[in-house]
Amino acid sequence: MPEDFKSGVPPVWCAGCGDYGALDAVVRGLQAIGKPPEEVVMVAGIGCASRLPGYVKGFRLHTVHGRALPAATGVKAANPDLLVLAVTGDGDGVAIGGNHFLHTMARNPDITHILLDNSVYGMTRGQASPTSPLGLQTRSTPYGTLDRGIDPVVIALSAGATFVARGFAGDIKGLRTLTEAALRHEGVAFLHVLSPCVTFRDTTKELRAAASTLSEDHDTSSRSAAIAAAMADPHGLGLYYVEDAPTLEENLQAVRSAARGPGDLGELLARFQ
Ligand code: SF4
Repeated sequence: MPEDFKSGVPPVWCAGCGDYGALDAVVRGLQAIGKPPEEVVMVAGIGCASRLPGYVKGFRLHTVHGRALPAATGVKAANPDLLVLAVTGDGDGVAIGGNHFLHTMARNPDITHILLDNSVYGMTRGQASPTSPLGLQTRSTPYGTLDRGIDPVVIALSAGATFVARGFAGDIKGLRTLTEAALRHEGVAFLHVLSPCVTFRDTTKELRAAASTLSEDHDTSSRSAAIAAAMADPHGLGLYYVEDAPTLEENLQAVRSAARGPGDLGELLARFQ
């Protein structure tokens, strides 16, 4: 039962928040995989989205703003048997944590990163975020934003992520499928979720109208095709790209083996005398 994978803590999100859809998809994904809660670690930063791990059964690490990804990478490197999931919002994930985002996508740790994107800072009452569209009027930008909104899917693809997908909180079935696939992927799986903030920027109707599904003949093995598709339509839903590549944990193990050398400790210490 999906309820078996919930922590029992009642969510405090506003009624209708898109993050409920992501919570549903995560608990169903964990149920489908069948990983016991004691082998699951969820890592969050700060913000409304970062409350999600608290509602799921398993170990949770609530880190500081923007630092969920390096913490999740460290957990996985220390114990590769764990299933590690990082959840961030758009401000947490690609503003404060933007540099970590780039390097995590490039390093390919075997973790899943779900970014719940509502294009504002919901927890602090709706200020503009890095994914806000150009000209958006918010409390912090009463004359409109001056930045073009960035697209986390394009950035993840450009940085080298080995699994990149986009879902919509209003498309529950599609989001469940993508979440399970992300959790099963071996390597860094980036799932961008369009998740409206119904209190400070309700884009639910707009997203329902704009959301499209990636073409059936989209080639998920081509990074350039994925980038082109993401740039052509910022509301395209589905799996953009997937690749089987060595994970950070495998590469670390190779370094450990190489660094051990012939294994003669006395000879090694003699080099420093
Ligand atoms: Fe969701 Fe916005 Fe409410 Fe935060 S403020 S819980 S993002 S609807």
